[in-house]
Amino acid sequence: MWHTDVLGTIGNTPLVRLNKVIPEGLPCPVLAKVELFNPGGSVKDRIGVTMIDAAERAGKLKPGGTIIECTSGNTGAGLAIAAAVKGYRCIFTTTDKQSQEKVDVLRAFGAEVIVCPNNVAPEDPRSYYSVAARLNQEIPNSFHMNQYDNPANAVAHVETTGPELWEQTEGRITHFIAGAGTGGTISGTTKFLKSKNPTLKTVGVDPFGSVYASYWRTREFDEGEIYPYFTEGVGEDMIAGNMDFDLVDDYVQVTDIDALQTTRRLAREEGLFVGGSCGMALAGANQWLDAHRGELTEDDVVVVLLPDSGFRYLSKLYDDAWMQNHGFLERSAALDADQILSMSKTQRPGVISVTPTATLAEAIGEMAAQGISQIPVIEDERVVGSLTETVILNKLIAEPEARDQPVSEIMSAPFPVIPRTMHLEQLSGYLEQGPGAVLVHDAGDEHYQILTKSDLIDALMHVR
Ligand code: PMP
Repeated sequence: MWHTDVLGTIGNTPLVRLNKVIPEGLPCPVLAKVELFNPGGSVKDRIGVTMIDAAERAGKLKPGGTIIECTSGNTGAGLAIAAAVKGYRCIFTTTDKQSQEKVDVLRAFGAEVIVCPNNVAPEDPRSYYSVAARLNQEIPNSFHMNQYDNPANAVAHVETTGPELWEQTEGRITHFIAGAGTGGTISGTTKFLKSKNPTLKTVGVDPFGSVYASYWRTREFDEGEIYPYFTEGVGEDMIAGNMDFDLVDDYVQVTDIDALQTTRRLAREEGLFVGGSCGMALAGANQWLDAHRGELTEDDVVVVLLPDSGFRYLSKLYDDAWMQNHGFLERSAALDADQILSMSKTQRPGVISVTPTATLAEAIGEMAAQGISQIPVIEDERVVGSLTETVILNKLIAEPEARDQPVSEIMSAPFPVIPRTMHLEQLSGYLEQGPGAVLVHDAGDEHYQILTKSDLIDALMHVR
């Protein structure tokens, strides 16, 4: 059995169960729809051929014609593959935010690529939208595919992605989770799946910096939500025609660091070498599944769509130097005292302390009862000193009768008081040199909270 050409190999991508990079203890499977198996390496191969077929049928694309499109790369590859088979010329506009690999792939398929600035408004004449529109006017027998508003984009997913997921899960899919750029994938797939099962839930995932999540919540376009971010291919600074917000049941937002680190984990822990919008979709899925775990049952089947392959991001998210330069490598460096406290196993509302007038024996008794190895000395809400096991031990060895002395005569200098916003790097400096603990306190806080080396170890065990 063979395909008549490469276009026959598009779609029918595998569903793969995720086993490690998901929240622990979920009652249901979380499956990935792995779109890297398409011949151009992404979900966008599906719309390339569908949009060209639709344009041919409508008489808008004639033999010898030129396909024009603004594309972050993947749609370009999908169009270029179909154009190579069908014999069309392709001109693509893209932005300087996209990986060089993506541009190289388009050129490999014989396309011409014009790279435009990313940080300009869509209506600016230099934007990749405006340049594509101008070329369309200037070049005879050309057709601007416009994946943002072209209905054939979402139709590709109504006709292929949706039915595949229905068949692959034997009608058991209950949750569909995906990011959105043009919205074709999330809208088309959901439209089909909800026609089969109206109770299916679709969760959209958006990078911070995109306008979609806030637009879904309020149906108002908030320019204040828009700022640059690094995750490629998802989120928008405008509302695409293919994005149907009414089909989405919930929306979550993901930071670049979470998206990119989750992507790397997919490669290392699941063996799925995928692009940044995949890690974003999964990070969002994990956030949502964790928050809604009480609603899930063993009959649920969750599918997260992973749009593309990791090959296009070797010089970025898979490059340690690039990740380091952008502050994305060490998630731990971004942790602050407040986050470390919230991750600690020993959650307590306020610090356990002794007064300076208590005896050393009383202080030792309290420390033993609480299982702690250091204690601050506090009088009238003021931190006046500290006791640690080391100091106590040295004192008792030298002077056994010290057990009856007041704490004020034995205590050392107070633990440093630091603000909640202090970052791990600085914080660990305090813990290494000093007595092994700091007190976290901001003006207006009711209690002091103690943060020790073991809290730091707990927090670091949570982040990878
Ligand atoms: N991920 C990547 C890498 C993409 O290129 C795109 C398309 N812009 C998407 C996700 C989102 O897909 P859609 O346009 O169908 O919403």
